[in-house]
Amino acid sequence: MRRVFLPEPLTETITISGSDAHHIIRVLRLKPGDRLSVVGADRQAGEAVIKDVRAGTIVAELVARIELLGEPPVAVWLAQGLPKGDKMDLVVQKTVELGVSGIIPLATEHSVVRYDAAKQANRVARWQIIAYEASKQCGRGKVPTVTDIMSLADCLEQLPPGVTILMLYEGEKVQGLRAALTAANGSGEIVLLIGPEGGFSPAEVELCKQYGAKMVSLGPRILRTETAAIAALAIVMYQCGDLGG
Ligand code: SAM
Repeated sequence: MRRVFLPEPLTETITISGSDAHHIIRVLRLKPGDRLSVVGADRQAGEAVIKDVRAGTIVAELVARIELLGEPPVAVWLAQGLPKGDKMDLVVQKTVELGVSGIIPLATEHSVVRYDAAKQANRVARWQIIAYEASKQCGRGKVPTVTDIMSLADCLEQLPPGVTILMLYEGEKVQGLRAALTAANGSGEIVLLIGPEGGFSPAEVELCKQYGAKMVSLGPRILRTETAAIAALAIVMYQCGDLGG
């Protein structure tokens, strides 16, 4: 059933307009009598029946309140070194499907792409739309936030105390991601740091260590940055019992 995130709290009568209404009417071709899954800004969820479709606006009536499913039991943030081209689009879409709580695009020493202020805002808005669409498609209970692009130092400085910081580092030969997750014992929030194509610099590795980051390996092969992000998220979600049933 098509899921819609409402900008206001869930009420008995629901009005949907804008791009969501356009998609429902023009692409999905839903009509009066068809059902929608709705999630309010207050994280209340339900099923609604379309009552009226007029001038690009849908009016629906709530027929059942339901438990909000689709969220993993652990909050995982992905801090992703900016990759080249459109790879970040893929990273956002796939990690949202896998259950990421939020994404921090990182401008690191070895990031090749450099955006000016206007382009940065444009990119972040684009990634937020991709996160929104992926959340609707896969049945998430919330839309993960994509933050502004920031430096690694700013990212580390802004992390709340007690968060488990795991730096995915191909130079780490001892500690694997699975062992690090077992050691963290499912406690609190997790931040996964993934480098861009050129990886993290030695200075960045040292900086992260100063903030308590643990270096972890994904195994014997060097994965492309986008593969590393998706694989790391999948491993965390599997380990916490979310992915894989
Ligand atoms: N520095 C390397 C180089 O230029 O040859 C490779 C960087 S890799 C393509 C991009 C990022 O993916 C790394 O910074 C790391 O975060 C992650 N990554 C890839 N393979 C990994 C592995 N086997 N273990 C841990 N992290 C890995």
